[in-house]
Amino acid sequence: MAKKYCYLFTEGNASMRELLGGKGANLAEMTNIGLPVPQGFTITTEACTQYYDDGRKINDEIMSEIMKNVEIMENINGKKFGDLNNPLLVSVRSGARASMPGMMDTILNLGLNDEVVSAMIAGNPDPKFERFVYDSYRRFIQMFSDVVMEVGKKYFEQLIDKMKEEKGVKFDVELTAADLKELAKQFKAEYKKQLGEDFPSDPKVQLYEAIRAVFRSWDNPRANVYRRDNDIPYSWGTAVNVMPMVFGNLNENSGTGVAFTRDPATGEKKLMGEFLTNAQGEDVVAGVRTPMPIAQMAEKFPEAYKQFVEVCDLLEKHYHDMQDMEFTVENGKLYMLQCRNGKRTAQAALKIACDLVDEGMKTPAEAVLMIDPRNLDTLLHPQFDAKALKKAVPIGKGLGASPGAACGQIVFNAADAEAWKAKGKKVVLVRLETSPEDITGMKAAQGILTVRGGMTSHAAVVARGMGTCCVSGCGDIVMDEENKRFTLAGKEYHEGDYISIDGSTGNIYDGIIDTVDATIGGDFGRIMGWADQFRKLQVRTNADTPRDAKKARELGAEGIGLCRTEHMFFDPERIAAFREMICADTKEERETALAKIMPYQQQDFEALFEAMEGNPVTIRFLDPPLHEFVPTEDEEIELLAKAQGKSVETIKGIIQGLHESNPMMGHRGCRLTVTYPEIAVMQTKAVIRAALAVTAKHPDWKLVPEIMIPLIGETKEFEFVKKIVVATADEEIKKANACLKYEVGTMIEIPRAALTADEIAKEAEFFCFGTNDLTQMTFGFSRDDAGKFLPSYYDTKIFENDPFAKLDQVGVGKLMEMAVKLGRSVRPEMQCGICGEHGGDPTSVEFCHKIGLTYVSCSPFRVPIARLAAAQAAIRSKGE
Ligand code: PEP
Ligand code: MG
Repeated sequence: MAKKYCYLFTEGNASMRELLGGKGANLAEMTNIGLPVPQGFTITTEACTQYYDDGRKINDEIMSEIMKNVEIMENINGKKFGDLNNPLLVSVRSGARASMPGMMDTILNLGLNDEVVSAMIAGNPDPKFERFVYDSYRRFIQMFSDVVMEVGKKYFEQLIDKMKEEKGVKFDVELTAADLKELAKQFKAEYKKQLGEDFPSDPKVQLYEAIRAVFRSWDNPRANVYRRDNDIPYSWGTAVNVMPMVFGNLNENSGTGVAFTRDPATGEKKLMGEFLTNAQGEDVVAGVRTPMPIAQMAEKFPEAYKQFVEVCDLLEKHYHDMQDMEFTVENGKLYMLQCRNGKRTAQAALKIACDLVDEGMKTPAEAVLMIDPRNLDTLLHPQFDAKALKKAVPIGKGLGASPGAACGQIVFNAADAEAWKAKGKKVVLVRLETSPEDITGMKAAQGILTVRGGMTSHAAVVARGMGTCCVSGCGDIVMDEENKRFTLAGKEYHEGDYISIDGSTGNIYDGIIDTVDATIGGDFGRIMGWADQFRKLQVRTNADTPRDAKKARELGAEGIGLCRTEHMFFDPERIAAFREMICADTKEERETALAKIMPYQQQDFEALFEAMEGNPVTIRFLDPPLHEFVPTEDEEIELLAKAQGKSVETIKGIIQGLHESNPMMGHRGCRLTVTYPEIAVMQTKAVIRAALAVTAKHPDWKLVPEIMIPLIGETKEFEFVKKIVVATADEEIKKANACLKYEVGTMIEIPRAALTADEIAKEAEFFCFGTNDLTQMTFGFSRDDAGKFLPSYYDTKIFENDPFAKLDQVGVGKLMEMAVKLGRSVRPEMQCGICGEHGGDPTSVEFCHKIGLTYVSCSPFRVPIARLAAAQAAIRSKGE
């Protein structure tokens, strides 16, 4: 049977979101449960993928099905495209499987042309109606030109501004029917000027072009960035919804709004929303006019409001989740235009999940699945220090649109935000209002402050989705974007000045306010407690300092999966000894330097063991590409020469000799021990002595240090190093007359190690995947340089994600799965972990669960994210 590419709202339901997109599926579901939805149809996501397969064309088969459905829609609604008595006007809106607010295109009022406009006006003598018709017409021409034909918005905005100036008015609503009629004429002329052709008057041509534009918008740059950040595959495509228009801008007895059944910023159970009379939906979201709170709708439209409150209750109970709805009141009658599970802050997500469990609407497992692990990030970042905050006096207040604390230097546009961030600066992006083009700048900023717009404005919705602090709608700011300055509370602020904003209270402060680390308590603690009951994977941390280890432990780490011992020497006090070791040219010299290093190492290892309170600690032996540590400045070279009693020339010669063409594939990891066994001897002594000392203090801890050898590619390399480690460790233990178990294992980070894992497992007592190097060596991409060319890979769709951030399950993952199987065929109980960056990435964690790893190890602040992702993986795999 031929594929069905269009579904009337009466033909779908909520379970069809893959095919109909979220919006289409929910419009169908609302229709099914009897809510007032203007009846239209959805063009499927498969039609979108077909459009791309056909070289960005809507083929005849799909087009004829669309036109058939237009006819059915015309019959259902008793209106017709282009009909002068009863014209049909529609909206054309995108709707992907996962919601991507503001990322794709929407066209409203489609179907208008000069004849339809004249006929509509002739049929209704009310002058207000005439104004409404011309308002809709000029909006349509502007939107169609901008969105469909990609003529810049600015040309039309300039014409509106000019008209307002001429007429001496401030707001669009103050323009008369005649003004708007004139504007529509000017807009069409502008269209012709820009494109060299007339504005299309045939509604069917308009529809075709609009659908094409929505399909095309799936591939626009901001959608691509959003998808990459939110793990939404390009292959999904977007659906398109064609729906008869209802008019919130018909008259003063009409309006439009958006609402949430619970507060999307805090999670509090109360209806939250915004409403604008005599307006269309885009006016609320675009933040052009600041809307009124939803409660005021009760006074203006008591009947519609009462019905709306009932709808909200019904929808929450139906979906068992907080709903985000768009609706319109036309002549006092309510229409539902959209509902979806609302985007929310991490804080709100936790509260809503816990409340829904308490209200009996969700089980704990379902509650755990409701939280997007990536969003926890915001809660784990610093908040303003309460004491410092008490002393600070706000200079202004907007809406607390996305919580968190942000301090930084003011920038006024997205490009500057990105550029300043690239220079290592922290910025707060201050805008009149944001638009979807600002997304990369918003991402680069610590926080976002806007002059206009409410809780559902673009800035607010997108910031919440990204977990970035946002204060919106601070109307007291007098903005001069062009000259990069604004005035607030009598002070003029310029680019580069510091401000602080509080996304919870909406307060704005002058200068920098101290911040403090976040803690896990309340709803967060409750969700993490449930998560821990479900997960099978252990979660460890990558920590090189006692401070990081302590933080990770507070955040729930069950051990250290990777301590990069070379990182312990970045400290200026310590680096000198380390450089001496690198630049030694005899064994004796090296041993002298190593003797200086050993106390530091032992002391740090003791502190790490203490911080982990008897939980496993994996210490990885030295793995520095040596070039990272050699001195480059003359002054430092002189110091080193002095310390070693050598001439500057000799040291320079040694440094020259250390130069490698491919340092990442060079003299690092176990290769260092093969050339300089004394390094492994020193490190083993430090680990064992530290473990003995801590065990003596805490005999109940059963400490079993895990010594991990990096960059093994051949089992004989491992045997060579292990022999040194075991001989040294046993001697230390014997000398101390103590009893201590320890393990010697390996990183699997070279493809050859994965391929020969059964051989290596005969000697190695555990495996840990170093997926940073494994990705580097499997792809042959330099970790240090790939960032330069990966953007071209995204643009050309060769890659959808950075393989260094999100595990390549197909290739690198295959090697991992193979290594686990081979290793455990020799050593069935073998512990296998991961400690590359991927250990804190939710989808990679899910993969690690699937291939049966023992633990994931990630940076301290990602520990809760990994705990939650591991629980979700376990719950989902049980359900499969
Ligand atoms: C790895 O390669 O994945 C790893 C954890 O080690 P490093 O990043 O230190 O090379
Ligand atoms: Mg590595």
